[in-house]
Amino acid sequence: MATLSNATKNALALGSFDTKAELYCFEIARPEVGPNDVSIHIQYCGMCHSDCHACNGDWGLDSWPIAPGHEIAGVVTAIGSSVSKFKVGEKVGVGCMVESCRNCDMCQDGLEQHCPNMIQTYGSIFPKGKGDNMKDAEGNHTNGGYSTAITVNEHFVFHIPEGMDMKYAGILLCAGITTYSPLNRHILQKGGGKGKKVAIVGFGGLGQMAIKLAKAMGVDTVTILSRSDKKKEQASKLGCEYIAYSNEDSVKEATRSFDVVLDTVSAPHDIASLLPVLKVGGAYVLLGAVGKPFEISAMSLIFNRYAIEGSLIGGVPETQEMLDFCAKHQIVPEYRVIDAKEANQQFKAMMNGESLADRCVIDISTLKNLEVVDSKLENGPAQ
Ligand code: NAP
Ligand code: ZN
Repeated sequence: MATLSNATKNALALGSFDTKAELYCFEIARPEVGPNDVSIHIQYCGMCHSDCHACNGDWGLDSWPIAPGHEIAGVVTAIGSSVSKFKVGEKVGVGCMVESCRNCDMCQDGLEQHCPNMIQTYGSIFPKGKGDNMKDAEGNHTNGGYSTAITVNEHFVFHIPEGMDMKYAGILLCAGITTYSPLNRHILQKGGGKGKKVAIVGFGGLGQMAIKLAKAMGVDTVTILSRSDKKKEQASKLGCEYIAYSNEDSVKEATRSFDVVLDTVSAPHDIASLLPVLKVGGAYVLLGAVGKPFEISAMSLIFNRYAIEGSLIGGVPETQEMLDFCAKHQIVPEYRVIDAKEANQQFKAMMNGESLADRCVIDISTLKNLEVVDSKLENGPAQ
């Protein structure tokens, strides 16, 4: 049974000690609330592929140990003297950001995710003298939601709408907003989904959210492009069309079919071969955070007036709007709750490209059943 050994280290966390990305249980320090902060007892945290990218070195992070997790749902345990939005006992969520400058054009426009000083929920290094209330015990980097508690400025905390189950609420704060934001721009803000066709490449955690959101926006046809036939049955249960894109003929048949493509694939893949499924003037939105450059011929863009764009989560106002949209349309992600001891297995599955569409959500109350370590255990990661 885990017990906390050190007064300054007041929370348990699950995280990685090096780029092997094996998850161990260790202790971290979470600060008392500052005037504008909210302390949260975390109940559930969704597992996003970004958690793997951060822990396995894909993104160049080299500061250990690190607890990932940015799909956080929990209950407020304390508030600072100036906090106005939240009360103790309220159900809240935290997504991918915990701070930004609040002054720049981006922050003023509610696009905090593009603020040059945005601080991510995990893996962000604070500039010297800043963020004292959120650094890890050694003052290195932020630690995320695979932990029992977190302290965050109220600006980056969200109300969980009445009736929304805490088990899946956190998923909306990354997978939800990341897919909502481009669909909002391309569908909702352009007259709605009637007559539109949307394709989603990669049927994982983001992919399943994109299907549900696109359907709720009234999109006529939502199609999943997955590598093989394996996930066809699940796609048809969600009422969407399916293309196994390893079959070149199926891709050819879909030439010039879609208004928008959301690409959620987590590993390098041949984007050029998928572009022709877009109608003339269509947009190919890259969501998968793949660092490796890819090649696209200018000719395929010119002759079809294609746009290729990226999209990064969403700002604070759009995130609250997305939560309310999901509550209104009763959108429930595909998910399963797992015990903390199963997290390593899911991490491996994601890194091997074998994750299923259901988002895994860690029941954070099970963290206390793991052995607490100071460094990696000889006999392997948490189980
Ligand atoms: P996930 O659940 O692991 O799903 C990724 C999907 O990509 C898999 O289900 C699989 O789909 C496909 N895939 C995996 N390996 C592949 C390979 N080697 N070749 C081709 N396809 C492969 O991941 P996720 O949580 O949805 O995240 C997806 C990506 O989005 C990650 O890179 C993550 O970091 C990124 N992300 C970006 C943002 C943003 O703001 N832009 C926010 C959150 C996450 P099929 O089995 O159907 O082929
Ligand atoms: Zn994420």
